Amino acid sequence: MSERAERYLAEIGITVYKRRGFAEQLAEAPRTAAETASAVAEPPPAVPSADAWERLAAEVRACTLCALHKTRTQTVFGVGRRDAELLVIGEAPGADEDRQGEPFVGRAGQLLNAMLRAIGLPRSDVYIANILKCRPPGNRDPQPDEASLCTPYLSRQVALVNPRAILAVGRIAAQWLLQTDAPIGRLRGRVFRYGESGTPLLVTYHPAYLLRSPLQKATAWTDLCMVKELLQKRA
Ligand code: URA
Repeated sequence: MSERAERYLAEIGITVYKRRGFAEQLAEAPRTAAETASAVAEPPPAVPSADAWERLAAEVRACTLCALHKTRTQTVFGVGRRDAELLVIGEAPGADEDRQGEPFVGRAGQLLNAMLRAIGLPRSDVYIANILKCRPPGNRDPQPDEASLCTPYLSRQVALVNPRAILAVGRIAAQWLLQTDAPIGRLRGRVFRYGESGTPLLVTYHPAYLLRSPLQKATAWTDLCMVKELLQKRA
């Protein structure tokens, strides 16, 4: 582990231990119908045009498909490198994100940034989006109909970014993306495949949960090491 990683880990209070051998899991990862459930409609062009991003962003800004548009301050589209190797997907904007129009900007976002930095990926190097583009009132869980209506936007973001890996943060995002009700403890530590592109997808705990349960930070660190190893592997 690099000195930089150790420094950041100390900063966020993680005691390090490292899981190995996930590359073999990737090779063996099954592709079930559930894992490909949220399939991306079309393969993206080699370099997506700025136009495609602009069209999508404009559609999201104007969206009134579900009732959440009535209570939002603004939509929260996504942020980061449009050609990122890693796409991080959370559940939905909270109060801070609704106010600022950017995902993961509150306390949980600060921790997410530190976790990403610890594996050498500053926030500006990844792309970050949510399942829902609008804040559910009172930060309640997204409802299935809201997630269904919003997922085509996310699928288009996945296709445009065309990442080498997806990191689902938190139970809600993981269960929705994988179309399963398995507990997060059974989903993390494995490599799934997402969509028709078969993009490797890993799961870790939501940073808001880690703020409440700091002992789990060590477990989350092993998940991030898997992400790092996966990205370092030759395509
Ligand atoms: N939690 C999420 O899942 N997403 C955000 O953008 C903020 C908090």
